Amino acid sequence: MNDLQNFIGGEFIAPISNNYLDNFNPATNERLNRIPNSNAKDVALAVKTAKQASSDWQKLTLADRIEWLDKIANAMEEKKGEIARLESLDTGKPITLATNVDATRSITNFRFFAQYCQSLEEMNFTMEDATNFVVRKPVGVVGLITPWNLPLYLLTWKIAPALAMGNTIVAKPSELTPLTANFFAEILHEIGFPSGVFNLVHGLGLDTGQPILEHPEIKAISFTGGTATGKIVAATASPMFKKISLELGGKNATIICADADIDMAVSGAVKAAFTNSGQVCLCGSRILVDEKIYEKFLERFSKKVSKIKIGRPEDPNTEYGSVISNQHLEKILSYIQLAKQEGGTIVAGGNRITEIDGQTTNGCFLEPTIITGLSINSRCATEEIFGPVVTIHSFSDESEAITMANNTDYGLSGSVWTADENRGKEIASKIDSGVIWVNTWLHRDLRTPFGGVKNSGVGREGGIWSINFFSELSNVCVKHD
Ligand code: NAD
Repeated sequence: MNDLQNFIGGEFIAPISNNYLDNFNPATNERLNRIPNSNAKDVALAVKTAKQASSDWQKLTLADRIEWLDKIANAMEEKKGEIARLESLDTGKPITLATNVDATRSITNFRFFAQYCQSLEEMNFTMEDATNFVVRKPVGVVGLITPWNLPLYLLTWKIAPALAMGNTIVAKPSELTPLTANFFAEILHEIGFPSGVFNLVHGLGLDTGQPILEHPEIKAISFTGGTATGKIVAATASPMFKKISLELGGKNATIICADADIDMAVSGAVKAAFTNSGQVCLCGSRILVDEKIYEKFLERFSKKVSKIKIGRPEDPNTEYGSVISNQHLEKILSYIQLAKQEGGTIVAGGNRITEIDGQTTNGCFLEPTIITGLSINSRCATEEIFGPVVTIHSFSDESEAITMANNTDYGLSGSVWTADENRGKEIASKIDSGVIWVNTWLHRDLRTPFGGVKNSGVGREGGIWSINFFSELSNVCVKHD
């Protein structure tokens, strides 16, 4: 595979320092290619280019820009298979997941915002003697920084509304998963997308991300990633009065009530725990079960987990692939060690997988891991592990379940499983989280607000919230005679 370059001003260009990083396939630990490790000079060039492209892009009507969103979606649709293949190669996730979730949603992000923006209504407020006209303007050049777990899915979730609102972009994908962002740039190049409107710089957080945060001409930062990095983003960008959106980590609870349909709850809890090897910010990594059904639930949950098809990502039957890197695998294993020290019992999993389909593997595979017997206050039950590890705890009544669910610094999502919808809604309303599902998980309507409370973030994405983030509202008050 060829080395990647930055995409600036519609051209693929080498980083000014000529500095490159190796990019690995985590399912084999083989080197795929090299990517630029861009620095402040590359970022400055990308910003200058984005700024120059601004006026022409802003001159287009909203309808023209919506047309571009549709053209991009059409072009991506034609290359959907390749998007999924590259995503799977870079992340180690199963090709089926990369196709059905990553590639599909990346395209949907453009289709959704194209359609949503058509229904944006004018906002006028009439007074007795005046009319207020609310005018929506672009923010300017915006910086988009994204993580490795859902690479193109999360990047396009920001690109589509940013473009629709007339902004120009400097984007930085995770250094661990640069392939689909680069492929997206190739698609834009192929369809003749206006030069300089979308710019891509690759590299490390400190070398490439930090200069994006610090650049005075970047007026908004939309960041998705870890809470520790989110703090740096806020500390850098807030004193510069940039708009910031922070979508950060989670430690989400899955609450299983005694009246839940047990098969449905087990299936839902397994999916919530182990999708993408537990590397989704919304994953339910703490399962809270009513003590009346605890044993039954644990037995069925363990059985279902033992049947997950672990395999090579390229095999369409594989349900569960590798984690993102050796370094991340070591971090997860250290939490499993810690769980033992904290008094937990490893009911299933806990080890690196060294053989896949009868063949030795060097890939970053880790067994789906179930831990019981931990205190709800333990580090393993309160800190984000972001891997295929769940802790299971029992509760005696609803109020205890709610207290346990809220017993973390995070507040991103959660799910409640019960036969009684009203009870589910009641419990959901008492959980300090941005998103709570009842009898489902990761069921998304893209018009709804998405984001976290507490240490899980600041701001909301989705529907009007994305549109408002990527635009500035001015009120023009016209006094009548
Ligand atoms: P990370 O914070 O390490 O990196 C995210 C991005 O920030 C990467 O592109 C990285 O290069 C960049 N970065 C790192 N340091 C930077 C700096 N000083 N300045 C600017 N950019 C910098 O996160 P990760 O390990 O890539 O992703 C996993 C985390 O993301 C988990 O905590 C997960 O919960 C979270 N996440 C949250 C959501 C959400 O919607 N809330 C979605 C997906 C992932």
